[in-house]
Amino acid sequence: MANISVLQDITKLAKEKNAVLVAISKTKPVEEIRKVYDAGQRAFGENKVQELVQKYEELPKDIEWHMVGNLQTNKVKYIAPFIHLIHSVDSLKLAIEINKQAAKNGRVIDVLLEIHIAAETNKSGFSEEELIDHLDIKAFDSLKNIRIVGLMGMATNTKSQVLIKNEFSGLKSFFDEIRETYFKQNPGFRILSMGMSGDYLIALEEGSNMIRVGSAIFGEREIKKNPTIPI
Ligand SMILES: *Cc1c(COP(=O)(O)O)cnc(C)c1O
Repeated sequence: MANISVLQDITKLAKEKNAVLVAISKTKPVEEIRKVYDAGQRAFGENKVQELVQKYEELPKDIEWHMVGNLQTNKVKYIAPFIHLIHSVDSLKLAIEINKQAAKNGRVIDVLLEIHIAAETNKSGFSEEELIDHLDIKAFDSLKNIRIVGLMGMATNTKSQVLIKNEFSGLKSFFDEIRETYFKQNPGFRILSMGMSGDYLIALEEGSNMIRVGSAIFGEREIKKNPTIPI
């Protein structure tokens, strides 16, 4: 069940910190999303293309939809017509495909480059070195239908507040460094998406200006026993 008073508390805190709250509604039914929408929330995030498209079709059109999950290149075309921000660009190949699909739709799509900051190796994202190599050779510069507006990172799933804090502060330093070095002429580069239900307080302390909060607002997710068939 969506908890509107928690939503209001986090909304207020985010506003005080000049941060945007993205409500992560993955696995939650449209009726629950509508309750959160009715309470004033407009930015929602999903991690599966099929679910995102379905919810986009069923819910009000003034919702800003964010893609936060692993995105396969062959599925970009389904979200390209309407997606507000893609947080999870973790390869040049994916950036090239988003650019192509954005052009087909006559759009410029805003994206974040995902940086791998966690201890877990199964999480995706560029390493800092890898991204710098791409930026040095201006790998993204010819992609006129995407706009790189910042970075995204996920901290290690751990009880260690110190580890999480170090990962977030490291990402903030990297963000500041590449903004100065590679995006100086580009005021659009301004978003640092970090912080989820378990760690958004630390993330805001460390300089996040976009938090992605799911279970704290919508309640715990059930583990899906029967995964839906992908499109
Ligand atoms: C699911 C998810 C979230 C939200 O996680 P909660 O712990 O439920 O807040 C945030 N970011 C990404 C990339 C996610 O996949």
